[in-house]
Amino acid sequence: MNQKRDYYEVLGVGRSATDQEIKSAYRRLALQHHPDRNPDSKEESEERFKEITEAYSVLADADKRAAYDRFGFAGVGGAGAGAPDFSSTIFSGFEDLFGTFFDLEDLFGRGRGRRTRAERGADLRYELELSFAEAASGLDTKVKIPRAETCSSCHGSGSRNGTQLSNCPACGGRGQVRYSQGFFTVSRTCPQCGGMGQVNRNPCPDCRGEGRVRREKVLGIKIPAGVDEGTRLRIGGEGEAGLHGGPPGDLYVVLKVRPHSYFERRGDDLFVRIPISITQAALGTEVVVPTLRGSQKVKIPEATQPGAVFRLRGQGMPVLNGRGRGNLYVYVDVVIPARLSREQRHLLESLAPSVQVENKPVERAPSEKVKDVFC
Ligand SMILES: [Zn+2]
Ligand SMILES: [Zn+2]
Repeated sequence: MNQKRDYYEVLGVGRSATDQEIKSAYRRLALQHHPDRNPDSKEESEERFKEITEAYSVLADADKRAAYDRFGFAGVGGAGAGAPDFSSTIFSGFEDLFGTFFDLEDLFGRGRGRRTRAERGADLRYELELSFAEAASGLDTKVKIPRAETCSSCHGSGSRNGTQLSNCPACGGRGQVRYSQGFFTVSRTCPQCGGMGQVNRNPCPDCRGEGRVRREKVLGIKIPAGVDEGTRLRIGGEGEAGLHGGPPGDLYVVLKVRPHSYFERRGDDLFVRIPISITQAALGTEVVVPTLRGSQKVKIPEATQPGAVFRLRGQGMPVLNGRGRGNLYVYVDVVIPARLSREQRHLLESLAPSVQVENKPVERAPSEKVKDVFC
């Protein structure tokens, strides 16, 4: 027999580990090394599983742990103890340890009996791409959803002409089969009936006994105004059909929105950049700004500075499932001519002496105030 490893080392915890640390270390290792999860190295993982289970059986028990800390293996039955003491105390905590990870009957042969047949249908996810304008206005559309639907020939029963199901010959109707696997007696879901305990001797020809058939369903859906990239619409009961009388799943329509060529969206607000010339900025002007619902004239006052922002109230996106709309913000880009003609250069040179500014660093100031446009 190999040299036994220290129990703390086996679980990879320190000697002062708390009960909770020991428990989670064991859970992690047990899940990792459970023989059923390692079909390629069954014997090795079984050895490992035994080792960690033995270590846990000692360290999880306060008295045994104390004895082990004082006397080592001698304190808990000696170096050749072999199989751990699988008394009920060791496994009393197993249900909460493994409840959500394993079928307990698969691990310890405590069969829960057969499964219930009714099963809820799976949820479906459907991606739908919209234009920016469609996201703003909302949309009534049709989508084609490939999905499992209840078989109309057998009304979902899976049997031809309403014949009854009969007990599974492999498990005698228990839904479980038992066999020994080295160290454990394992009780497993019956492979022939899938744990149902019953088999269908006269399956419906249209669905081959499944009770469902795959179809492409055309579904009308209503996209509300104001949806955004990633908005998820849940359409109850339009997922896959349930099995054996189980309820259907839901359909989730996940939206993608193509970006707009000049509107940028942030929440319900929109942003657009409008270039103006240096003379328009200096003298003032009127520009036509596109909105979601057409266009709007916006007065740019004289002496408008680069980066000035004008707010058009209520010209943003509609608020999804709410009232009102966001705002549209118009950023003004003052465009400096990239090349000057001889005449433009001459005009600017004659202007230069009268528009001088002091070239001193600018004091840090709160950001530019937004100017409202009232129309
Ligand atoms: Zn059928
Ligand atoms: Zn069976």
